[in-house]
Amino acid sequence: MDLSLYESIAETPSTNDPTQHRVLIVGGGAAGLHLASKLGAHYGRKGKISVTLLDKSRVHVWKPLLHEVAAGSFDAETDAVELIAHAKLRHYRYRIGEMIGINRARQQIYVAPTDDDAGTRVIPPRVLGYDTLVIAIGSLSNDFGTPGVMQHAITLDTLDQAVRFNRRMMDACLRANAQYEPLRPGQLHCAIVGAGATGVELAAELHKSMRDLASYNLDNIDFDKTIKIELIEAGPRILLALPEGLAADTTKLLESLGINVRTGTPVMSVEADGVTLNSGEFIPAELIVWAAGIKAPDVLRDFDGLESDRINRLIVKPTLQTTRDDNIFALGDCAYCVPEGANAPLPPRAQTAQQQANFMVGVIAQRLDGQPLSHFKYHDRGSLVALSDYKTFGVIFRGFRLEGFFAMLAYRALHKLHLLALFGPWRVALNFLAGLLTKRTEPRVKLH
Ligand SMILES: Cc1cc2nc3c(=O)[nH]c(=O)nc-3n(C[C@H](O)[C@H](O)[C@H](O)COP(=O)(O)OP(=O)(O)OC[C@H]3O[C@@H](n4cnc5c(N)ncnc54)[C@H](O)[C@@H]3O)c2cc1C
Repeated sequence: MDLSLYESIAETPSTNDPTQHRVLIVGGGAAGLHLASKLGAHYGRKGKISVTLLDKSRVHVWKPLLHEVAAGSFDAETDAVELIAHAKLRHYRYRIGEMIGINRARQQIYVAPTDDDAGTRVIPPRVLGYDTLVIAIGSLSNDFGTPGVMQHAITLDTLDQAVRFNRRMMDACLRANAQYEPLRPGQLHCAIVGAGATGVELAAELHKSMRDLASYNLDNIDFDKTIKIELIEAGPRILLALPEGLAADTTKLLESLGINVRTGTPVMSVEADGVTLNSGEFIPAELIVWAAGIKAPDVLRDFDGLESDRINRLIVKPTLQTTRDDNIFALGDCAYCVPEGANAPLPPRAQTAQQQANFMVGVIAQRLDGQPLSHFKYHDRGSLVALSDYKTFGVIFRGFRLEGFFAMLAYRALHKLHLLALFGPWRVALNFLAGLLTKRTEPRVKLH
């Protein structure tokens, strides 16, 4: 992409006070918004630093809930965080836009213009300056070059995609219910490619919400006979990143629900009406979800000479500084971080993002005081899998096995900690109470 036009654009000011240290955070997700919120609350009023958050989206939704949005069991409209309002609450500046380039020598990033749905320009191309740049732009699904994925499958990387899947699912059920002729092969079948935590949790969530949907006057749909969910995994077992016992128990539960779990089954291509396996077998499906792996956004490949790995993640030192530029940090899914003493990069998880954001708050203070920077230490708090209302189980701390109600509480705790960082205890408590009330008055699944 030719970015030469940006060289002549004047920098958008992020502060009126030239003595302020400018912290620019790109990406307002689990890591970036957490950091902006904490920095804004801590420094925003004191004026020592100016904190600016850039995100291409206007709202923030906790990404680990996207499979629930897709299945309709979580209503994002009521729980999304409006970034403009949040920025005012926590004393940071919010800019909307997509980072598309960087000029490290000038300490500037380039932001693409924003157009409305009709193509009318809302915000022109802009240039933002920084003293400290924190890149936290997350990850996207990786199709590994498999034909047809981007055309025919839905990925769950953004709120829009999750909402789009939900509409497709609703429409598929309504269409089938109104139809006189018998269902065609694959109609009301769902194929989920990739049985990591996202695929597995989505399979259980879909099973629950499609059953709920069928119970809402969709009397021509016999759930047990017509709805079929296939979970397809190339690896030797599901949940490869989690302990084997947990994967075995999860498989048993999914199979008891009637979900067909296929392992050691690579997908060769995705078509409009199903997926073709490497073996040549075709699995017909009306709804196809691709959840088979991740990569960092392409913008980070060849990012003005910064070092990245084969899936575009910026390689960082134990201080979370990028290896070739001490003024640029990377956090969360888009960072390739091997902590001291470890021999593998940290997993792309919300707990990694959250711990790194908390760590970065201290690092900013150290930079301001001219102190040497600490090294990031990762504390693995365990892994939990929530299979909708059916069961939640996992291991926490040093292999302690947890199941049922307490496992569900632990699973939800990570989100609550995120909300605490964003809103403080009062709002979280009120929000919790409001949630309890609306749960009693609203349908179990989103119907529009
Ligand atoms: C369906 C699903 C379920 C998951 N479940 C779990 C779970 O149970 N437990 C767990 O630990 N993890 C889970 N994860 C993973 C977890 O969500 C991620 O590891 C975590 O969100 C990463 O945080 P992040 O801040 O790096 O990125 P994100 O939270 O993805 O945030 C990235 C932000 O950057 C913005 N952005 C992207 N590109 C640009 C750009 N060029 N310019 C400006 N802004 C940009 C995006 O709009 C977004 O707001 C799940 C993920 C998914 C998709």
